[in-house]
Amino acid sequence: EEGKSLNFIEHIIENDLKEGFSKDELRFRFPPEPNGYLHIGHASSICLNFGLGEKYNAPVNLRFDDTNPAKEEQQFVDAIKRDVEWLGYQWDQERYASDYFEQLYKWAIELIKLGKAYVDSQSSEEIAAQKGTPTSPGQESPYRNRSVEENLELFEQMKNGDFKEGEHVLRAKIDMKASNMLMRDPIMYRILHKPHHRTNNDWCIYPMYDWTHGESDYIEQVSHSFCTLEFAMHRELYDWFLNQVYTPSKVKPKQREFARRNLSHTVVSKRKLLRLVEQGVVNGWDDPRMPTISGLRRRGYTPESIKNFANTIGIAKRDNLIDVSLLEFHAREDLNKKAPRIMGVLNPLKLIITNYPENQEELVEAENNPEEEVLTYREVPFSREIYIEQEDFREEANRKFFRLKLGGEVRLKNAYIIKAEKAVKDEHGNIVEVHCSYDPLSKSGSGTLESQRKVKGTLHWVSIKHAIEVEVREYDRLFTVAEPDRQGDKDFLEFLNPESLKITKGYIEPSVATAKVGDHFQFQRLGYFNIDPDSTKDKLVFNKTVGLRDTWAK
Ligand code: ATP
Ligand code: MG
Ligand code: MG
Repeated sequence: EEGKSLNFIEHIIENDLKEGFSKDELRFRFPPEPNGYLHIGHASSICLNFGLGEKYNAPVNLRFDDTNPAKEEQQFVDAIKRDVEWLGYQWDQERYASDYFEQLYKWAIELIKLGKAYVDSQSSEEIAAQKGTPTSPGQESPYRNRSVEENLELFEQMKNGDFKEGEHVLRAKIDMKASNMLMRDPIMYRILHKPHHRTNNDWCIYPMYDWTHGESDYIEQVSHSFCTLEFAMHRELYDWFLNQVYTPSKVKPKQREFARRNLSHTVVSKRKLLRLVEQGVVNGWDDPRMPTISGLRRRGYTPESIKNFANTIGIAKRDNLIDVSLLEFHAREDLNKKAPRIMGVLNPLKLIITNYPENQEELVEAENNPEEEVLTYREVPFSREIYIEQEDFREEANRKFFRLKLGGEVRLKNAYIIKAEKAVKDEHGNIVEVHCSYDPLSKSGSGTLESQRKVKGTLHWVSIKHAIEVEVREYDRLFTVAEPDRQGDKDFLEFLNPESLKITKGYIEPSVATAKVGDHFQFQRLGYFNIDPDSTKDKLVFNKTVGLRDTWAK
């Protein structure tokens, strides 16, 4: 933290503190609508708000913005809580906008009594037609000057369920000539005969976002309410609504805006992600190809990799696109420290070490992770028949091919130096196995002169009779273009990558047999993988999180 320059949000807070705002009154909130799962864009907002909470030792509420019963569900509430917790953040209070329906209703009645709100009985089309344009004033509703008594009675009837959806709305009486269109008598309530996931059938009128958000911030005494740029124009209305209820002894929340974060080769919008789920393009919200927090977790991302990503890109004042490779970079960087190394072969080629005794086997010692402060080791079985990667062998190759070729030598990682003697082929000319000889004195770590002999290539391998067969799921980008939802009038679903999932078999060393769902590994020379919840006792399933930047340098 030290020496890090402040971002513009921190500047706003520092300024307020300088001008006398008490540090003890700082309070933040993260306000998701429970209409889908959190995505990588939300991670920016979570890291911003909870990061400020940590920095200023201030409470942060988790507030569900649940004012639209048509789209919100308990399963989304549960998923959101799980994801915020998994990222490692703890909220002060768990709140719901629906907790405030009664208070909001009472305040609305106050506004009616003050002549600042009225029931409009026009259709939504009529209301829209009167809005005007940014350069021409709107038209006042014929119901704008209803008496307070009539408004109170109609509003109560709305609440009691006496009307159908769309028959009436409650509007704030502000200014139909305002240059900010949002100030032209915005709607505060609409009738919705839909059960709510928390209030069930208690209400059939629901408050609109603008009427709800600022007042909720006020009730919770949130000092700084950060939202994304599309709400910049709403700030004037946010303040207007607050001013109707504000008492000077209390904190008046301050809305400030920051840029949405977009990620390349995907879509970060719950509405669009919902389409992918509903149309079966992916296998649910936590499909490892999804940019959701739960998808990234299942893919093998760690909380730290996501937080480091969010904190590195920081917050901005203008919308921009972040390349997904930056997210991948942070996965590699964190997993490099944490993921134990193992050997696994994905495209096996059988190799027989002809001078290794048939019934012999032995254990070789392998380092678990060179990044560990205190190195630890495991034992890996070695025997006469092993698998290597198909691409690690060629009959002939030029001098730059540092892997195995006929007549050439390589070291088998943690084991012996071998030499390829013969390639055995099937009737189509495909190589089915390679016969090799080994140098019995060259075992890694044995201290002999031969063990220190330098050969150019080092290959990973598994002993065939000890290997575990596993399912491996390799992922590619879900979309073929960087901005699938910005392709003119084309739908983003037209840009799906048909090869975003490839399922293969792999063979891995037996040390992994006891691993658990979610455990991370580096398959040496191949990438980072983790164990998928689809795994069963009989079959482990691995997700490829991300490839390695480099193979072994040697
Ligand atoms: P979506 O379009 O995906 O539904 P939203 O903004 O409607 O996004 P909310 O659940 O209302 O989703 O978002 C909760 C908080 O997260 C809000 O403060 C919102 O501004 C912020 N947020 C949402 N998406 C992003 C993003 N891509 N980048 C940064 N912050 C975001
Ligand atoms: Mg929202
Ligand atoms: Mg939304």
